[in-house]
Amino acid sequence: MAMRRVALQGRHLLSSSHLFRRHMSTEPMAALDRIRKSGLLKTQGLVGGKWVDSYDGKKIEVQNPATGDVIASVPCMGSKETTDAISSAYSTYSSWSKLTAAERSKALRNWYDLIIKHKDELALLITLEQGKPIKEALGEVNYGASFIEFFSEEAKRIYGDIIPAPLSDRRLLVLKQPVGVVGAITPWNFPLAMITRKVGPALACGCTVVVKPSEYTPLTALAAADLALQAGIPPGVLNIVMGNAPEIGDTLLKSTQVRKITFTGSTAVGKKLMEGSASTVKKLSLELGGNAPCIVFDDADIDVAVKGSLAAKFRNSGQTCVCANRILVQEGIYEEFAKAFVKAVQGMQVGNGLVEGTSQGPLINEAAVQKVEKFVNDATSKGANVILGGRRHNLGMTFYEPTVVSNVNRDMLLFKDEVFGPVAPLVPFKTEEDAISMANDTNAGLAAYIFTKSIPRSWRVSEALEYGLVGVNEGIISTEVAPFGGVKQSGLGREGSKYGMDEYLEVKYVCMGNLKET
Ligand code: NAP
Repeated sequence: MAMRRVALQGRHLLSSSHLFRRHMSTEPMAALDRIRKSGLLKTQGLVGGKWVDSYDGKKIEVQNPATGDVIASVPCMGSKETTDAISSAYSTYSSWSKLTAAERSKALRNWYDLIIKHKDELALLITLEQGKPIKEALGEVNYGASFIEFFSEEAKRIYGDIIPAPLSDRRLLVLKQPVGVVGAITPWNFPLAMITRKVGPALACGCTVVVKPSEYTPLTALAAADLALQAGIPPGVLNIVMGNAPEIGDTLLKSTQVRKITFTGSTAVGKKLMEGSASTVKKLSLELGGNAPCIVFDDADIDVAVKGSLAAKFRNSGQTCVCANRILVQEGIYEEFAKAFVKAVQGMQVGNGLVEGTSQGPLINEAAVQKVEKFVNDATSKGANVILGGRRHNLGMTFYEPTVVSNVNRDMLLFKDEVFGPVAPLVPFKTEEDAISMANDTNAGLAAYIFTKSIPRSWRVSEALEYGLVGVNEGIISTEVAPFGGVKQSGLGREGSKYGMDEYLEVKYVCMGNLKET
């Protein structure tokens, strides 16, 4: 609740400030106009195939983080609307789960085709409400759509098993059946892909879903849901509610009709959902925060290491769960790497994501900038040096300068926690053992990166890292065909790939007995 109050306060401040208006430009207006003309600017929730307002008429403003302008208002929903969304998902479940795999597959494929057809409008919407550069937004649309395409294919491959029976008059079968109604809660940093990565497999398996997107980025979710309806996914299969997050969350948790919660977001909220799932013993998948180490060994190819760590650190202005959070650099290459890395960071262009050439957009809100400032101040007060950036960008709003901080150590917040912003901390280390010990010295365990030319070291270190994903000489590793997820407090379960299907399936054993002829 406290978290939410901060968010809403931040928004109020943004819209009421005069200063923030001065950056208004024609690009956002033209983009919004184009989205409106395409019919994809949806501003109501979706319950049982009907577009609905909140029952008490309350609304939330959705703002462009680059300008502070209000893009649209959406309903601020709560328990009542969520209860109706659950009922609609529950009543539709019996028909959707009984369709053949081929029928569900076809509907998903149609949805994929429509997302790709409207990729430009969806990308504009992502940039408007989330702030990422348009090129990255287009990348997200392709990435997000790839989950729908992949799982439309996987729908046809949900195989069971026949187990050799211990008695001759018996046959033992294993069936895979859909879990039932799914509650999906998603964050703002990937407004489309974090939804499709959950809804794709859920629908493919025969589940129905109630999605709660972030209050910061509901418009992309609503546009995607509209395309799902157009694709022939029946009303009630996919429902969208947004607004009062704790109230919506509690309603999903308490309902005995909801059989699974899938969540992507902060570790703090994930823990609350895990606790809340206990009373109805729900199946649970959690994709939580990271604290990714990016280890550059003395024997790394420096160009590959700089390119890879730059991509791993600064994508979405450092606001991804797999962003390199600590760049550990071996002493022998430290100076050379730092120099080349700073040069590469200097080449990045900060600005409105709609402007061609922008590679760094704004942070999502004021609270995010304050967190970055706190982490940088903590590091400098303990002896680290800011060697590039280190302050708010002169564009104002929530823009922050791409920053490099050197001589970071284990005592600093930049080492211990996820900064979720455009700050690259460089941490020197001596030996491979030191690097592994530092990398694993965290409760998080989502993504890790290593840069080395040695094949034996690649294997050794990959196996020693307590992480769910490891990139070797590569900074961008997510793909729909590979399993994505964390260990330790970074989460439970996997998304994407064939493993992502298991999260939405129950295993049922059927014993057929007395099969002797009489
Ligand atoms: P967040 O504050 O946890 O929010 C995530 C979602 O949870 C939003 O929809 C939010 O709603 C909702 N929420 C907040 N409080 C809730 C409650 N009490 N009950 C139910 N729902 C609640 O996280 P965020 O700031 O949006 O996202 C950033 C975090 O997500 C980072 O830690 C990042 O590492 C993590 N992340 C992880 C992955 C992964 O795959 N592991 C991927 C992306 C991001 P409102 O926004 O409407 O308040």
